[in-house]
Amino acid sequence: MATTALIIVVPCYNEEEALPTTHQRLSELMRQMAADGLIDGSRSRLLYVDDGSRDGTWPLMERLADGGQHVCALKLAANSGHQNALMAGLETAAAMGDAIVSIDADLQDDIHVIPDMVRHYADDCCDVVYGVRRDRSTDTWFKRKSAQAFYHLMRRLGVKSVYNHADFRLMSARAVQQLCEYRERNLFLRGIVPLIGYRSTCVYYDRAERTAGVSKYPLAKMVNFAIDGITSFSIKPVRMVFSLGLVFMAIALIILIYVLYNHFTGHTAWGWSSLILSIWFVGGCILLGLGIVGEYIGKIYIEVKHRPRYNVERRIVK
Ligand code: UDP
Ligand code: MG
Repeated sequence: MATTALIIVVPCYNEEEALPTTHQRLSELMRQMAADGLIDGSRSRLLYVDDGSRDGTWPLMERLADGGQHVCALKLAANSGHQNALMAGLETAAAMGDAIVSIDADLQDDIHVIPDMVRHYADDCCDVVYGVRRDRSTDTWFKRKSAQAFYHLMRRLGVKSVYNHADFRLMSARAVQQLCEYRERNLFLRGIVPLIGYRSTCVYYDRAERTAGVSKYPLAKMVNFAIDGITSFSIKPVRMVFSLGLVFMAIALIILIYVLYNHFTGHTAWGWSSLILSIWFVGGCILLGLGIVGEYIGKIYIEVKHRPRYNVERRIVK
């Protein structure tokens, strides 16, 4: 069983503060797993992806790669976003190992469930093992509530995703190769992975605070990520606008009957406020509809260009 070559992929954006601790803890974990015979120590690697950081993250990665046979690093030419950085790491890792674990650089996810993930892969033949947060008590109230609302909305819109799972997961090399076949540019990995359909399971953990540094996901990025997630996977919003249009037509018909009735019975003093209100309300609905349709057209525009997701500037792979 000690044949699993494990690659741990860590996307990093301005993580010079967190990376030293993260590296130390992940290296220790790898050593322990190799000693326990869970992974093949000589072929297992830590793969750091520098997502165009502006601080000293890359020089630090170079030093770490120089200092250990088990450390590899990728440097993206520009900041391409968490999902693209992760994809860059996964694509490279699929050619290097048997099982690939992705984890954030701040170690908010509990690394001690990684051995369980590997056991599920090796013993139960699971191709995907999702890391699921047991609770979100360490997140701020706003982050917790907004994330819950987002997961519920996704489910209602018919998107298959694992509740409270972010991007902490193990995938077999063949699952990652399959993932690479999903060639869309608007990446929302936690929505795509369940679509692969291979055998999967979950492991549960408590989410910790960031080890160091600040969140690289400010509110604006989070909102963009949520909009991407919804519009990349569901056309229900467009259908909802269509249904809303039908409802408005029905209301307009009732108003027409009301208007004709008033006309023929001689009550022709029309209310200005209701008129203005209708104009604004209907105008608002039209704009809303246009906005949603525009969101999808924007997606098509980005997809048809088939641009590369990221450009690798330097590669240290052993
Ligand atoms: N990250 C990245 N590129 C970005 C933003 C973030 O590679 O443009 C990485 C970041 O370094 C971290 C992970 O994505 O390893 C998750 O970010 P963070 O922990 O800041 O997000 P949060 O946990 O606050 O949602
Ligand atoms: Mg984090």
